[in-house]
Amino acid sequence: MLRRLRWRIICPYLLLALLSVGGVGLYLMGCVREATISAFQQRLLADARSCESDFATAFQKGDDLATLCRHYGSELGERVVVFDAQGDVLADSAKELGTLDVSHSLSHALSGEWIEGTYLSQGQLWIFAMAPLRVQGHTVGALCLVLPLEETGALLRARRALLWGMVGVSLAAFLLGIGLVAPLAREIRHLREGMSRVSQGRLGTFLLPSKEKEIGELTRAFNRMVEHLQENFAQLNEERTQLESILEYMADGVLITNDEGDVQLINAAASRILQTLREEALGKPLGQVVRQHQIIDLWRACVERQERRVEFVELRQQELFLRVFALPLQQIGQRTCLLMLQDLSQVRRLETVRREFMSNISHELRTPLASLKALVDTLREGALDDPPAAQRFLDQMDAEVDALTQMVQELLELSRIESGRVPIRLAPVSVEDCIRAPIERLRPQAERAGLDLQVSLPSNLPSVLGDAERLQQVVSNLVHNAIKFTPKGGRILVSAKVEMGEVIVSVSDTGIGIPKEMLPRIFERFFKADRSRSGGGTGLGLAIAKHIIQAHGGRIWAESTEGQGSTFYFSLLIGESASDL
Ligand code: ADP
Repeated sequence: MLRRLRWRIICPYLLLALLSVGGVGLYLMGCVREATISAFQQRLLADARSCESDFATAFQKGDDLATLCRHYGSELGERVVVFDAQGDVLADSAKELGTLDVSHSLSHALSGEWIEGTYLSQGQLWIFAMAPLRVQGHTVGALCLVLPLEETGALLRARRALLWGMVGVSLAAFLLGIGLVAPLAREIRHLREGMSRVSQGRLGTFLLPSKEKEIGELTRAFNRMVEHLQENFAQLNEERTQLESILEYMADGVLITNDEGDVQLINAAASRILQTLREEALGKPLGQVVRQHQIIDLWRACVERQERRVEFVELRQQELFLRVFALPLQQIGQRTCLLMLQDLSQVRRLETVRREFMSNISHELRTPLASLKALVDTLREGALDDPPAAQRFLDQMDAEVDALTQMVQELLELSRIESGRVPIRLAPVSVEDCIRAPIERLRPQAERAGLDLQVSLPSNLPSVLGDAERLQQVVSNLVHNAIKFTPKGGRILVSAKVEMGEVIVSVSDTGIGIPKEMLPRIFERFFKADRSRSGGGTGLGLAIAKHIIQAHGGRIWAESTEGQGSTFYFSLLIGESASDL
């Protein structure tokens, strides 16, 4: 109970009031007591004076002192005792009240003094007065009148008054205390409730400022604090959201383990790289989330030595090449660690492509250049003197230079298409026009090669959005390849159909076909499935075709059975669906 503010204020206040009332009361009681004792002593002295002569006479005459004592005892309502000159009791009106403890005063009375006093007996204060009994000038004894203090009503009344006074003052002090403290306690209770609401995270808690000055200031300070908290909280929230978004959308995987080695944070990229779900990974030991021992070893080394570590890790199954950073986060926890997974697969792929490209282009250039060198040497060594032979060599050199020029042109074109420098001007074009024009150009070549070149198009082919010139180039490349790789007597069929919002064009031949394992690679630069039979081809035609079709938002693919023939397909979006390109 004393823990409550109300009682902690009221109790000392009450105690103080009681002590002061009690102190004053006791002092007054003392005064009343003294006054009462003195009044009674005066009464006893007066009574002694009035009956002293009767006792002296009785003493002289030898009358029965005991009867006289009883007479005066009952008349005065006091105990009456007579002593002889030796101090022995001669008569006592109330022996049952015990012995008198008056020996010291008795000697004074026997020596002729009037004397009054008090003594304690049986837990009771007795008041007495003594008078010497004189006969013919000699003190022959002493008369003693005794009253108990208890019997005096004034004292009782004073005590009762004091008691009631104390009760009254306590009650008044209590009520006054309650009246004064209650509003204060109420305000403090409101403040306390407000604080506990804020501590539970309910930051919308504001309090009405109290009229009490100090409490009012406290309430205003509380409201200001809540305002600041709200601002800080909103700012923190915003920053956290920003950080979460950055973490979520960043390409690198981020994973944090706590002091126990459990996953505390994992972003979307890390979940994807490690092939796990965030909900499953959180709170699990790292060893259960990451299966690659290299990453676990790296993490362990970082945690144990508390130093930054970097390592390249290859995940063969997923065809991923990672750079993994392990960083100790000592500012968060002694063994807390940040793992950052950088996916370098694309960079490495590009690097490989670049290396392959360099080696391919060197290879492609070396053959015609070596052949040119040989022709020049032959001419120098005397072929010039043989004009028909010289003419033949010059024709061959011309053909090699043409091949080189074509290759350089195709390379340039591919590079321009890849880098987006060749503008694709989209306009509604007729698929039939895009097919027929290049076919008619290539027909003589097909006839020379003894091939049957056929076109089969449905009559209601819709127009597509495309760049007619570029689409003709694609058809030309595909048909040209079909002519090149189909032996004499073979058949080439170019057709088109409409399927799911697309026009699909196909060029099929009954040629040599493409080995199954090489089929996925034929759209790569410089790729030639059969070098011996690709003639003067550069291996760039299909790569160019792929880029043109992709720039149109379409797809290109091939099906083939080795020795039986191949079919190349490409798709183009019809009219409306292509308009959002
Ligand atoms: P090129 O024809 O100049 O060699 P391409 O990029 O056009 O280069 O073709 C790449 C390779 O794909 C060819 O060398 C050939 O091996 C293979 N190829 C393309 N078209 C056909 C086809 N119709 N039949 C068989 N093989 C083909």
